[in-house]
Amino acid sequence: MQTGGWRRRALLWAALLAVVGCVVAWVMLFAERGQSFSAMPECPGGHPVVIDPGHGGIDGGTNVPGMLEKDVVLDVALRTKQYLDKYQVPVLLTRSDDVQLGGALDRGRLRRDLNFRIAAANHCQASLMLSLHVNSTRNTAERGVMVFYQPSRSSRDAAYLFEDMLRRWPVHERRERPIPRTNLAVLKTKAPALLIELGFITNSADRQLLGDPAYREKLAQALSSSTAAIYHKWLKQGSQ
Ligand SMILES: [Zn+2]
Repeated sequence: MQTGGWRRRALLWAALLAVVGCVVAWVMLFAERGQSFSAMPECPGGHPVVIDPGHGGIDGGTNVPGMLEKDVVLDVALRTKQYLDKYQVPVLLTRSDDVQLGGALDRGRLRRDLNFRIAAANHCQASLMLSLHVNSTRNTAERGVMVFYQPSRSSRDAAYLFEDMLRRWPVHERRERPIPRTNLAVLKTKAPALLIELGFITNSADRQLLGDPAYREKLAQALSSSTAAIYHKWLKQGSQ
């Protein structure tokens, strides 16, 4: 009896451990895949351009007292969308409010936030993904807009068109050409993708510009002109 009871308890413990092990493995796998808990958005018709203001909610992005990246990029994204509506370009905003997109506030949140943005673009069969951010660096002299692109031919074409348009408005005079990047998660959409750093929060002149509504409007005009140009060009090529 004694031995049988011990065996039963041992078996129960083993079963319990196996169950706990499975749950832990499942949670780790889930975190690893960075699955998003947010629901997919409703897609606008056609192949929309995804305007993706980075960060949001608990994630302010880069910041200095009085300025948060998440606020600057959201404002520019909303202004850009207004112009694109006029240009009749269907737009999907990954967020139109101050919210984070990673679901539960745990360790996997940031990965899920990025995955959600990519999944939303793929889900809506986007024609272009445009992710907006604000830069920061220790070198306070560094300034200007930077354009990063997914290493694909169409992303490169879009990147150079954006760069050209941003110079012509003129929004900046930075000499650096668009930069291909393979290690930026948000550039891993099926659609051609660009990440645009709108300026350096760590540079006082850029910071002043980024805080100025008139400058944000100019940025939105440059971004929407570029987006509309590339969208209609691709649409035309697609229909030929
Ligand atoms: Zn950012």
